[in-house]
Amino acid sequence: MTSISEIDSQSGTMIQVENPATGEVLCSIRNMNAEDVQDLVARARSAQPQWAAMDFSQRARLVRAWRSWFIQHREHIIDLIVAENGKTREDALLAEVFYIADSMGFWAKNAAKYLAPESPRTHSPLVLGKKITVHYRPLGVVGVIAPWNYPLTLSIGDALPALMAGNSVVIKPSEYAPLAVQYVVQGALEVGFPQGVIVAASGGGATGASLVDRADMIQFTGSTRTGRQIASRCGERLIPCSVELGGKDPMIVLADANLERAANIAVEWSMRNSGQICMAVERVYVEESAYELFVDKVVKKVAALLQGLPGGYGTVDVGAITYPAQMDVIQSHVDDALEKGARILVGGNPGRGPGRFFEPTVLVDVDHTMKCMTEETFGPLLPIMKVSDADEAIHFANESTYGLGSSIFTRDIGKAEGLARRLVAGNTWINDAIMSYLAQEVPFAGSRESGLGGRHGAQGIRKYCDTHTILTTRFAPSHELTMFPNSARRSRAFERLLVLMFGRK
Ligand code: NAD
Repeated sequence: MTSISEIDSQSGTMIQVENPATGEVLCSIRNMNAEDVQDLVARARSAQPQWAAMDFSQRARLVRAWRSWFIQHREHIIDLIVAENGKTREDALLAEVFYIADSMGFWAKNAAKYLAPESPRTHSPLVLGKKITVHYRPLGVVGVIAPWNYPLTLSIGDALPALMAGNSVVIKPSEYAPLAVQYVVQGALEVGFPQGVIVAASGGGATGASLVDRADMIQFTGSTRTGRQIASRCGERLIPCSVELGGKDPMIVLADANLERAANIAVEWSMRNSGQICMAVERVYVEESAYELFVDKVVKKVAALLQGLPGGYGTVDVGAITYPAQMDVIQSHVDDALEKGARILVGGNPGRGPGRFFEPTVLVDVDHTMKCMTEETFGPLLPIMKVSDADEAIHFANESTYGLGSSIFTRDIGKAEGLARRLVAGNTWINDAIMSYLAQEVPFAGSRESGLGGRHGAQGIRKYCDTHTILTTRFAPSHELTMFPNSARRSRAFERLLVLMFGRK
C-alpha cells in the first residue's frame, strides 16, 4: 500500500486514510491522476450551463434541501470528521456542522442580493444619458482545494457561494481528511442537485495541481508554501484565484484588561482543535504589570485541560495532531525555544496514546529570535512574552510575515480601537477572538503572506464571477461630437473644456 508521504510522486494508486487519534487505518481512497481530474472537470463543465440558467430561488431551494439532509445526517458527519481528523466532537459540532448549516442558509438567502445587476450613476459628462448595467456572470468550473484542519468548513463552506453564483464545483479535499467531504457531496446528489454540479476529487498534491491546470478559478486554503505555487500557476494560466493561507496570530493583553476573560480566550483559541487553526492564538504579549497574574491563570487552565482519544461530548478538551509532519514542527519549536533560554511551565512533550498527540504547552521567557514567536506552529503551544507597554506590543505583533487575525484585551475601548488600526492584519478582535468569522456578511481575509482574496460578504461571492458591463445608448443623434472626422476647432474646444473642468487647484 502506498504510504501517504509517497503519494505526490505516484498516480492511479490508493492512499490510506488513518485516524490520527488511534493510528487505525480507516479506509483507502483513490489517488486520482490527471486523466481522472480531467474527467471530473469535464463532467462539471457540461453540467454548469444548465445550473447557471436556473434562477437564484431554484438553486437556493436545492441548497436548503441539502441543509435539511445535512442536519438529518449530522451524527454520521460528526463521526467521520472526528475519525479522520482526531478532533473532539465539540470541535466538529461547532466549527464544522454548525458553521456549514448556517452558511447554507446564508448563501441561499443572500446570493441574489450580492449578485443583483447594478446600475450606478456615472460621473462622466461624456457618458451622460447612457444606461450602464454591471452583471455578475459565473466563471464556469471552480476548483476548491482544501486543507485537513477543518475539512468541511474550508471546502463545502467555499463551494456554497461558488454554487449559488451559478458555477459548478470540483472539490479536492485534503488527502488526510477526505471522508466527510465525499459524504456531504453525495448528500447534494441525494437531494436533487444535477449530476456534475458538485463533485469531489480524491488524492494528494499532484491531484490538486491537475485541478489547478484545468479549472476556471481556484479557491485554495492551506499553507503559504502551497498557496504561492498555486497562485503562480494561476498567474501563468491567467485565471483568478483566492488563497487563504497561514497565520501567526498575536494577542495583546494590556494591564487594565479583564485578565480572567483574556486568559480564558488565550487558552481556548490556542488549544481548541489542538491549535490547528489558521487564526489560533499563536503568541501573546502581556503588559509588564499584568504579566505574572495572567501567566498564572493561563498555566492553571492549560494544566486542567483533558487531552486524549475523542469520545462522546464532554470526554476530552483537546484531541490529536492530524498531520504526521506537524509533530516534528511543534517539537522543533519547543526545542529551539528551550535552547535559546525559554522555560516550559506546562506540557512540552508528545502526548501518550496509540495515535499522535502533543501536550498542551505554555512557554515563557520567549523572544523573537525563537521560531515559536515567528513561524506558524499549528499545534497546542502558547508562548507568552512580557512587554513594557502597548507600543512595544504593537511593534512585536506587527513583526511577522503573516497578517491573518489579531486580538487586543483592555477595558479602554477607545484606546483598543486606536491600537487595532495600527495592527497589520486582516482581522482584529477586541476583548474577543475569531468571532467575526461567523458574521458571514463581513470579509474574512488575510494580509501579507496570509492570503490574497478572502471569503464571506459581497466579495466572497463576487470573486466567483466575471463582471459584464453593458452600456446602452437609447436616444442619441447619428453623429456625436467625438466621432470622426477629427477637427482642430473641436479639439481646441475640448482642450478648453479640459482646463475648465480640471485645471483649478
Ligand atoms: P497544504 O498546503 O499542505 O495542503 C492544502 C491542500 O493543497 C491539500 O488538499 C493538498 O493536497 C493540496 N496541495 C498540496 N500541494 C499542492 C499543489 N502543488 N497544487 C495543488 N494542490 C496542492 O496545507 P495543509 O497542511 O493541508 O493545511 C494547513 C495550512 O492551512 C496551515 O498553514 C494553515 O494556517 C492553513 N489554513 C489557512 C486558513 C485560512 O483561512 N487562511 C484556514 C485553515 C488553514
